Amino acid sequence: MKNKTIQTDILIIGGGPAGLAMAIHFADLIQAHNAAVDSGTGQGAKLPLKVTLLEKANAVGNHTLSGAVINPVAFRELLPGMADKDMPFETPVLKEDIQFLTTAKSFSLPFHPPHMDNKGNYIASLGKVVRWLAEIAEKKGVQVFIGFSGHELIYEQGKVAGVRTGASGIDKHGTPRANYQPPTDVHAKITILAEGPRGHLTKTLVEKFNLAKDRNPQVYSLGVKEVWEVPDGVMEAGYLAHTLGFPLQFNQFGGGFIYGLSKNLVSIGLVVGLDYTDPTFDIHHAFQIYKKHPGVARILKGGKVLRYGAKTIPEGGLFAVPQLYHDQVMIVGDSAGLVAMPSLKGIHLGIQSGMLAAKTAFEAIKNNDTSLKQLSLYEELFKRSSAYKELYAVRNFRQGFKINLFIGMLQFGTQLLTGGRGLSLRGKLKMGEDGEHYQPIQELRGKTFLERRKDDLVFDKTLTFDKETDIFYSGTKHDEEQPSHIVVPKLDVCQVCIEKYDAPCQRFCPAQVFEIAVDSKTGKRGLTLHPSNCVHCKTCDIKDPYRNVTWLSPYGGDGPEYESM
Ligand SMILES: Cc1cc2nc3c(=O)[nH]c(=O)nc-3n(C[C@H](O)[C@H](O)[C@H](O)COP(=O)(O)OP(=O)(O)OC[C@H]3O[C@@H](n4cnc5c(N)ncnc54)[C@H](O)[C@@H]3O)c2cc1C
Repeated sequence: MKNKTIQTDILIIGGGPAGLAMAIHFADLIQAHNAAVDSGTGQGAKLPLKVTLLEKANAVGNHTLSGAVINPVAFRELLPGMADKDMPFETPVLKEDIQFLTTAKSFSLPFHPPHMDNKGNYIASLGKVVRWLAEIAEKKGVQVFIGFSGHELIYEQGKVAGVRTGASGIDKHGTPRANYQPPTDVHAKITILAEGPRGHLTKTLVEKFNLAKDRNPQVYSLGVKEVWEVPDGVMEAGYLAHTLGFPLQFNQFGGGFIYGLSKNLVSIGLVVGLDYTDPTFDIHHAFQIYKKHPGVARILKGGKVLRYGAKTIPEGGLFAVPQLYHDQVMIVGDSAGLVAMPSLKGIHLGIQSGMLAAKTAFEAIKNNDTSLKQLSLYEELFKRSSAYKELYAVRNFRQGFKINLFIGMLQFGTQLLTGGRGLSLRGKLKMGEDGEHYQPIQELRGKTFLERRKDDLVFDKTLTFDKETDIFYSGTKHDEEQPSHIVVPKLDVCQVCIEKYDAPCQRFCPAQVFEIAVDSKTGKRGLTLHPSNCVHCKTCDIKDPYRNVTWLSPYGGDGPEYESM
């Protein structure tokens, strides 16, 4: 069966805030241009609106997971004239607390460091917000296709010419089944990669054209989150707490968040830098321990969990942002690494980058020039934007914390005094890729997370959950007959990894995709994959010490069903 083919002008991969903002703003620019031509005030011919957006989830928002505390500035730029009250935010931030947690106590910081103040921001479910943005985009004429996953980039004469979606109806060995559906080749004048963190198409593009040359390596955190319904009297709508300390160690970067969506609905999570060194460390399990802290357990007591999920966050900052364009292609949002880590915010930056890419794409289509030179306008606009200014001020933030919390605080303090430079001779702090930091298990014997926390890793299924139960709360489903979308090519390398690091994959994955079991015939430990558990967080693609894991897209529509995360 031959591939189906579609032709469009602008192809956007990913229906998150960045991709949808790109679509909406591009449609607005075309509409304004055509209205000006009609009224005789604009020059040139009218332009058709041909924008196609592919989203791999079976509904926009179903693969969306965020905090989310939203800085509304970008929404006001994207939808001028619309009042904040008409946007689907749950509540303004009304009360804010930054706490340091010890094992049993919590201490509120008497002040909020710059970049961490949330006055004027809103608490929201990002899933709900992107569903609303998708409706706006569709009303403006954008074609939004859900359940379509961009599988690989199409190149023509060495330039990106669109994206091939995944085929479906293939068995585990790659043989077509009776229900086989061929891929669709979507050809486009410009392709926008808005895949979120560690986009797998973005990764191949950046590697092929060396777009990360002379940049810091991108580094990530993993955020695990649950949404809870809680009884009356324990939570206030608009309450926001960020916590440091327990259960993380001094040399780990990260912290917890608790957001009151309403008086009965709480968003709670733990975000941890993936540069940790202990191969037995497990962020899902650390999150369960976090919930047992008296200050946290008090809020959840008598409540029930509604949803669970996990997702990575690119946190390398401005020095890890790759070149944002090439011939006929641009990268926006988290795929480009546009997150400000001190405030844990990327939604408004994703929207702003989407709008800048839309302005660039509009000029390119108007001038009938989609070359690398023409699209370099995007990076010029970005360098003049408020998004760049915001990221520039905190450009060394994450790298400052690579040793421990104390040095990180010192670095951050000096960065605040020196406009972001901090204690760095060359003005640029560095840290290695996340998979590089593991210590061999032998060196850690007696001190590992697993050994230290042994007694804590008992899950009562009321306050704390094992991974299997949490996967149920993520709503994750995959067709089990497809080839594994998590590819581990070298099983002999797994043996080395088991010996040296005790197979960190079985712990870094927050959805139990990787199982190490003893083979009854050989008596040796080996890897079994459960890709149907995958919540698409991409940690495996990032944190494997041997870079022996590649995340590819499964069938369109497969994956978690987050609804309102
Ligand atoms: C735990 C956590 C807490 C956070 N808290 C906050 C916060 O409070 N405030 C804030 O501003 N930011 C926060 N962030 C960051 C914020 O969520 C992101 O910066 C933002 O969502 C980035 O938007 P995006 O559109 O670039 O990517 P995403 O929101 O990740 O959207 C990408 C979309 O692309 C789709 N996609 C990916 N690959 C493909 C493909 N190949 N084909 C088709 N579709 C594809 C995905 O399914 C997804 O829908 C948080 C992030 C996490 C993980």
